[in-house]
Amino acid sequence: FRGRKLQVQIIPFENRRQILVSHDATEGERVEAMRRDFIANASHELRTPLTVIVGFLEIALADPDLDAATRTAHLNLMTEQATRMQRLIEDMLTLSRLESDEYPLKREHVDVARMMESVAQEARALSGGRHQISVHVDGPDVMGSPEELRSAFANLASNAVRYSPNGGSIVLSWERGPDDLRFSVKDSGIGIDPQHLARLTERFYRVDKSRSRETQGTGLGLAIVKHVLARHGGRLKIESEPGKGSTFIASLPNTSLPG
Ligand code: ADP
Repeated sequence: FRGRKLQVQIIPFENRRQILVSHDATEGERVEAMRRDFIANASHELRTPLTVIVGFLEIALADPDLDAATRTAHLNLMTEQATRMQRLIEDMLTLSRLESDEYPLKREHVDVARMMESVAQEARALSGGRHQISVHVDGPDVMGSPEELRSAFANLASNAVRYSPNGGSIVLSWERGPDDLRFSVKDSGIGIDPQHLARLTERFYRVDKSRSRETQGTGLGLAIVKHVLARHGGRLKIESEPGKGSTFIASLPNTSLPG
């Protein structure tokens, strides 16, 4: 039990008293448990689309005379599932790179205004005109990883689109806060119940799995955002009201300003 905090409790059990000795998990044990969870979740997430693909392949092999329309429908479904696997693997690789000591942060000058325009353009393409998306840039350029920051901002913007009903409005802003720099995404979407807020950035944590899947989510987006911000010395703040909408604020320290 070296290095662990011991807890001794006397608890009544079937009219007898017994002593329960437990211990808090050490940091190593917690990391190991998280790793196990991650592998179990990732395997499950990959197995689901793979099962669909194998199913359709078996049908194709069993019935070589399948009519053309059914065959095309099956091929489309298989492509959809394979693409889903591709997205999952891309996101898992991104996360593992962000966590690895082998890829330390390389800071470069980031033209934030240009980045925001390109993120907004991508969000508009995803929305397909179903949302009103506007951009406000009132902050300076920063030093950071353009690829990482772009991926974090793009993740937040795409979530706003994916979790807002048609006709919703989304505002992307970049501005100076009282003592930080802030990229924020405000949506008028479905919102998030407060009980979920603390866990949203955990890998594979989703409020509604089926909605996340329908909208091509992997459950890893916010984990990636959190890691990118942590590498830049920043943090993510979430404000939300169920049924009204959410604001995700990615805050970067003033030390990100070009020297
Ligand atoms: P996903 O790929 O499922 O969107 P994320 O890690 O990006 O995964 O987000 C985790 C969960 O947080 C989502 O499944 C969703 O339930 C919730 N969420 C994220 N962004 C929003 C938002 N703008 N509005 C409402 N819920 C959101």
